Amino acid sequence: MSHDQYPRVRFAQTPTPLELMANLSKLLAGPDLYVKRDDLTGLAFGGNKVRQLEYYFGDIMEKGADTVITTGATQSNHARVTAAMASKLGLKCEVQHENRVPDRDDAYYESGNVLLLKLMGVRLHDFPVGEDEHGADAALEDIADRVRREGGNPYVIPLAPTHPPLGALGYVDMIGELLDQALERGLRIDAIVTPSGSASTHGGILVGLRSRESNIPVYGICIRRPADAQRERVLDRARAAARLIQRQDLIHDDDINVDDGYLGPGYGLPDEQLMEAIQLAAGKEALIVDPVYSGKTMAGLIGLVRQGVFEKDQNVVFVHTGGTPALFAYTGIFKDL
Ligand SMILES: *Cc1c(COP(=O)(O)O)cnc(C)c1O
Repeated sequence: MSHDQYPRVRFAQTPTPLELMANLSKLLAGPDLYVKRDDLTGLAFGGNKVRQLEYYFGDIMEKGADTVITTGATQSNHARVTAAMASKLGLKCEVQHENRVPDRDDAYYESGNVLLLKLMGVRLHDFPVGEDEHGADAALEDIADRVRREGGNPYVIPLAPTHPPLGALGYVDMIGELLDQALERGLRIDAIVTPSGSASTHGGILVGLRSRESNIPVYGICIRRPADAQRERVLDRARAAARLIQRQDLIHDDDINVDDGYLGPGYGLPDEQLMEAIQLAAGKEALIVDPVYSGKTMAGLIGLVRQGVFEKDQNVVFVHTGGTPALFAYTGIFKDL
């Protein structure tokens, strides 16, 4: 791959396992379902942010920053892994929490990822709005100004789509790893199912595949926006990721496949399909999926199989992006179990 030019600090424990979900495949009586265990990337409960942030921290270390600043939802996994890498590298970390999910209970504000941030010594800030990516990024600049006035050297990890998706390179890497694993086992992969949020993961997967001349279709399950908005987001981010490896013409309109049938009432909000998916994954495969991302994506996988989208002799890979700690912030939704 031609992205060796980007500095990277290695944290992810790779290759992550590729496992057959034998019980779930049998239960649904469809294709063979596999899981790419990116929930096991290590470092403070792992998940997809470990691969993504390796590239941001490469840049952070190259620039000699001493304070890392970022933003996310209250139960952001991105914030947790940012804090974890900062801890390991001896940097300070400040996190801005956006108010993205309405009407949550105490566990949401105190447990899960919030608790872990506190343990790692992060300085926390509040941002009152939930859906204002540019406003949230602007507020990070205010924090950076304060750090500078205090004599520090801040680095802001922005999330709005005006910035190049450095983290997507981590998912270009993941695809190299996955295709090697499949080759070793003589396994033909017919489809990949992934969460689609900021689209660093979805976009990186597409760039990883197409840059290796693989036409495997990728099903992005919307976890934040309706399909129309998400389609544009993925196209934009995948193309921006392709530009990072000097392959501008790699991604086409018909590469983008998004499904918002599992979004429920919205970002971080549960519905029946999610509740079923979380329990099926745990009960049949001892796979722990979270209510915000991997659970909705599991619901998407199950839904696509039930709709007969795949043939029985096909092999489908579910990308488990982690998010485990957020489960403990959502104990309220499981009260009836
Ligand atoms: C952030 C996150 C996602 C979404 O990844 P994007 O690259 O932002 O699309 C999916 N799953 C988990 C567990 C996450 O933390």
